[in-house]
Amino acid sequence: MRWDNLTAGPDHRRADDAALFGADAVTTRTFDTPEFRGITFHEIRARSIINRVPGASRMPFEWTVNPYRGCTHACVYCFARKTHSYLDLDTGIGFDTQIVVKVNAPDLLRRQLASPRWQGEHIAMGTNVDCYQRAEGRYRLMPGIIAALRDRANPFSILTKGTLILRDLDLLTQAAQVTDVGISVSVGFTDAELWRTVEPGTPAPERRLDVVRALGEHGIGCGVLMAPVIPFLSDQPDRLRATVRAIAAAGATSVTPLTLHLRPGAREWFMTWLARHHPHLVPRYERLYADGAYAPTWYQRRITRQVHELAQEYGIGPARAGAARRVRPPEPTPPRAPQPPQAPEPVQLSLL
Ligand code: SF4
Repeated sequence: MRWDNLTAGPDHRRADDAALFGADAVTTRTFDTPEFRGITFHEIRARSIINRVPGASRMPFEWTVNPYRGCTHACVYCFARKTHSYLDLDTGIGFDTQIVVKVNAPDLLRRQLASPRWQGEHIAMGTNVDCYQRAEGRYRLMPGIIAALRDRANPFSILTKGTLILRDLDLLTQAAQVTDVGISVSVGFTDAELWRTVEPGTPAPERRLDVVRALGEHGIGCGVLMAPVIPFLSDQPDRLRATVRAIAAAGATSVTPLTLHLRPGAREWFMTWLARHHPHLVPRYERLYADGAYAPTWYQRRITRQVHELAQEYGIGPARAGAARRVRPPEPTPPRAPQPPQAPEPVQLSLL
């Protein structure tokens, strides 16, 4: 793997990734329990945990924390898959089964938050891979991370498909009493058959909506990122309606639709899956995504309009761009002092 060979190559992203890890700091483990069978964990001590989003990014946040790389939720369409290639790991099954764990994430975050150079800005989590994937049940990194943010009253948001987030409800409630906490859950559709094949490692959509409900009952407003809407499989009017109705019934504070993207890394894996499960759709996808990673604008607009109309019909508040929704308006942010140089980490919203 890349961290076994830290010589900087011509690809600067690979060199940056390598700089995140110490070459002598990788411990590889497997666990012989049904939950983790076939999964390999690479425990590393990260050198930096707060990552700055590259300036050119279209993401509505500037700072992220990602304690894991790779994701056992194994969504076929996940476009964080590409980031595994920066570590010389496979972007298909390898992304689902080779998980990098930054075991020092809570301690490192606490240290970085205490630095006089840190200005207390909003930190987004779950933006690259899911911080409440199954590995979190064993490594329990998020309680320390949330506690560190709570203790500094540092605003943050979490986007997840993991029901494990409810384990940390008390901590989230405490944090929400001292700072802005935004939680979003990703539920692209409610069709059980589609879920089993395209998101095989995730909790069922109904269980994710239970998370929305439970958070709301504890006074933490939770939005839903309705992502991805999958062309010809979850975009039929009756399916959109069923999904938005279920989201509304769970008490979501917002619903934000996002049409499937097929970037390199995810595209090959998804198209292989499509050919196996829905071969008759392959030509239609080739036409719809002929111009690149995104469906045509007219298609995206149509989905957005339909979902917003349904949201209105079912009484969900207007969706706001971005994954996270703050429970209180943000405080004015003081001008930021020059930041220390940090090794950037690839950041992208992985259709969580
Ligand atoms: S889309 Fe999200 S939950 Fe699914 S595999 Fe990617 S990071 Fe994990």
